[in-house]
Amino acid sequence: MRVLVLGGDGYLGWPTALHLSDCGHDVGVVDNYARRKYDEELGSQSLVPIEDLDTRVAVWKEVSGKEIPAFVGDLLDADFVYRVVREYEPDAIIHFAEQRAAPYSMIDREHAVYTQHNNVIGTLNVMYAIAEINPEIHLVKLGTMGEYGTPNIDIEEGWIEIEHNGRKDRMLYPKKPGSFYHLTKVHDSHNIEFGCRIWGLRATDLNQGVVYGQQTDQTVRDPRLATRFDYDAVFGTVLNRFIIQAALGQPLTVYGKGGQTRGMLDIRDTVECLRLAVENPADRGEFRVFNQMTESFSVKQLAELVTETYPGSVEINYLENPRWELEEHYYNVKHTGLLELGLKPHLLSDTLIESLFPIVEENKHRVNLDNLLPKVKWSNAKNS
Ligand code: NAD
Repeated sequence: MRVLVLGGDGYLGWPTALHLSDCGHDVGVVDNYARRKYDEELGSQSLVPIEDLDTRVAVWKEVSGKEIPAFVGDLLDADFVYRVVREYEPDAIIHFAEQRAAPYSMIDREHAVYTQHNNVIGTLNVMYAIAEINPEIHLVKLGTMGEYGTPNIDIEEGWIEIEHNGRKDRMLYPKKPGSFYHLTKVHDSHNIEFGCRIWGLRATDLNQGVVYGQQTDQTVRDPRLATRFDYDAVFGTVLNRFIIQAALGQPLTVYGKGGQTRGMLDIRDTVECLRLAVENPADRGEFRVFNQMTESFSVKQLAELVTETYPGSVEINYLENPRWELEEHYYNVKHTGLLELGLKPHLLSDTLIESLFPIVEENKHRVNLDNLLPKVKWSNAKNS
């Protein structure tokens, strides 16, 4: 198949492009380097050095013999989006290309507006390009488990049967997201579901859990194929951040009581879920939703797992929670769709955690310790 990966320079987009290319698909990547610019703005960088996109694709050609054409441009530029879709003629478009950090979206008005504009309008441009150029194209869109929040009932896979005053309907599962970033994903889900109804688009919305890990079978073939590994309080995802803190001899920063439970998955499962979604497209007019996660853990459990696994001693600091979220709650998620398509999950084992410590050790001189502590508070409309 021909697959266009939007956000192909990012943490997940790059390894997904390599995985699909390795599995025999023709892959093109699109990115505007926004993620590299947030690093400049925040005075941060990936713990592991990452090459620029031109080098990455050249190295992949060297090690695999396969080409990955790169299109550099912004999804907010509709002419660019239409041109790439016309030129590349994809069967599927995987859309990772959004601002994805909740704290970044909560810095102040400017960052909230940027995040909502970038994510919602970028997705609309992609939807219109598909609808006008070729509605057969399967849109595979990255959403997040954070769209649901933590309701006091079981979380279904996107849709729920509701009986109300004696009548029944199948509705989109109600959402209770916890940041302006997570809200963008909810808006996208609604827009895409509408596109499936009115234009007969075919779409898969992947409500992904928090991803951990940094290596895949393809990225390890050459250090220049590495994907990013973020440790900072804005972009570092929870388990990756704890592993890095432990190996740096820093306390693990748990927000509040740490009872917040989240769906999680290994980066090797992310890339495989994307392959499964692409190779098994949704039907025309179908808005298909998968909860892309393999296991649930509380933040406290993750911190304890890291302290038990790290060979040295590690402290846990329970900080005042900068976010607005329930710290103790019910959490029971249905996530059978991808398993039914054949996903064989990598469950979180000590081996994965241990394998990340040497990577941190090797790169620890690159860390800016000032960026480990959370500075963005949800209760402040403006964080200076
Ligand atoms: P990332 O920031 O590393 O990658 C996103 C890429 O999209 C970046 O390279 C960025 O430059 C690009 N991009 C952003 N806006 C763009 C635009 N307007 N035009 C073109 N390119 C643009 O993020 P990631 O961690 O790889 O996440 C990828 C997707 O998966 C996101 O949509 C995110 O919300 C979702 N997701 C990630 C996680 C996680 O744990 N990392 C969890 C759930 C969902």
